[in-house]
Amino acid sequence: MTLTAAVVAVGDELLLGDTVNTNASWLGGQLARVGVQVVASTMVGDDLPRMQVALRRALQDAEVVIVTGGLGPTSDDVTREAIAAVAGVELVRDAELVQELTDRFAAYGYAMPAQVLQQADVPVGGTALHNPVGSAPGLRLEVGERVVYALPGPPHELQAVIAVVLDELGARSGSVLRTHTVHTSGLGEPTVAELVEQAVAVPAGVALAYLAGGGAVRVRFTGTDDDVLRRLADEAAAVLGDHVWGRDGDRLDEVVHRALAARQATVAVAESLTGGLIGAALSRLPGSSSTFRGSAVVYATDLKETLAGVPGPLLAAAGAVSAETAGALAAGARERLGATYGIGATGVAGPSEQEGQPVGTVFLAVSGPSGAVVRTLRLPGDRDRVRALAVTMALDLLRRHLAAEPVVP
Ligand code: AMP
Ligand code: MG
Repeated sequence: MTLTAAVVAVGDELLLGDTVNTNASWLGGQLARVGVQVVASTMVGDDLPRMQVALRRALQDAEVVIVTGGLGPTSDDVTREAIAAVAGVELVRDAELVQELTDRFAAYGYAMPAQVLQQADVPVGGTALHNPVGSAPGLRLEVGERVVYALPGPPHELQAVIAVVLDELGARSGSVLRTHTVHTSGLGEPTVAELVEQAVAVPAGVALAYLAGGGAVRVRFTGTDDDVLRRLADEAAAVLGDHVWGRDGDRLDEVVHRALAARQATVAVAESLTGGLIGAALSRLPGSSSTFRGSAVVYATDLKETLAGVPGPLLAAAGAVSAETAGALAAGARERLGATYGIGATGVAGPSEQEGQPVGTVFLAVSGPSGAVVRTLRLPGDRDRVRALAVTMALDLLRRHLAAEPVVP
């Protein structure tokens, strides 16, 4: 038996297009994982009568109603009132919540405006859900056979309050869904699908999905038996070989950082079309300083020579956008910035072609103690996309290069 839910996102800003309703999509994913099927998802403005209509409708649609937004301290935040009105109960001020709010303001040294106390109002028969990161608590109220949860609108607060809700719903649905994901790069989605489907027999009750984006293809198995899912992911990873760069929550920048750390190695970059984005990716993690030396942004052609050490005659002969220059940038980064490995990146991000090379032409190189590798790519999309993909491809090129190098015990 599947439990059904209706999501109601509250706020004029959602209807006006000022804020994207990311809470609805995020909730959809979280609820699916605990075996709850979202059957309707709506948006409504900060308007008491309209909210009551939306809530009544949601209570007809599903066994569980999840409201986000409108729990704040200002007069446009009317979610509490709307829920109480639909349930036909009064709001009462909760003394414990009043104390919590008072303490919270005192702790920050702010005077508390009286309006803030409306956040301590709870419909009769309902309970407050503790909010560890904000002043607006969530609410839980049974309405007949159904249950309404009201959760804060700011995404980080919603995410901090939701755990108790998901636990409760997961226990009721009795079918918590789990996923195992294999991250790949370097192969198109159809090729990944073909390889996986030849090698992996997917049993009934398991859903297999391919998710392409950002230069990677993810292979995702969803089902209820964790051991079965892990075995399927292992089988898929085996057939995909060195195209696999991670599992589940892994990120490529972390994988590269770990691979460098395991080899007690460092990396430096000389980058042109990415304008520092490769350096930004390599420095994102806390602790990056143990593996990332630095990046020279050599956008102007003369800087490729003066800063990154690309030989002038090579630049003149091959051009700034060439495989030869990418290789020389990698070697120059390695040498001038004193790293074990150098990455070089040059290309045409667009919107117009350069040196006769079409938009999306990208040359990436990695230089290291055991040799160098250069890759020529034609990346799709606009300027932002070409640059973002070039970063991913550069990290992936280094990852592949490192995989062949011995780990320091
Ligand atoms: P509220 O709890 O209604 O005062 O919402 C406070 C803030 O949370 C809004 O200004 C938005 O920035 C954000 N927010 C509210 N609802 C959503 C939503 N459905 N999706 C994403 N952000 C939201
Ligand atoms: Mg609001």
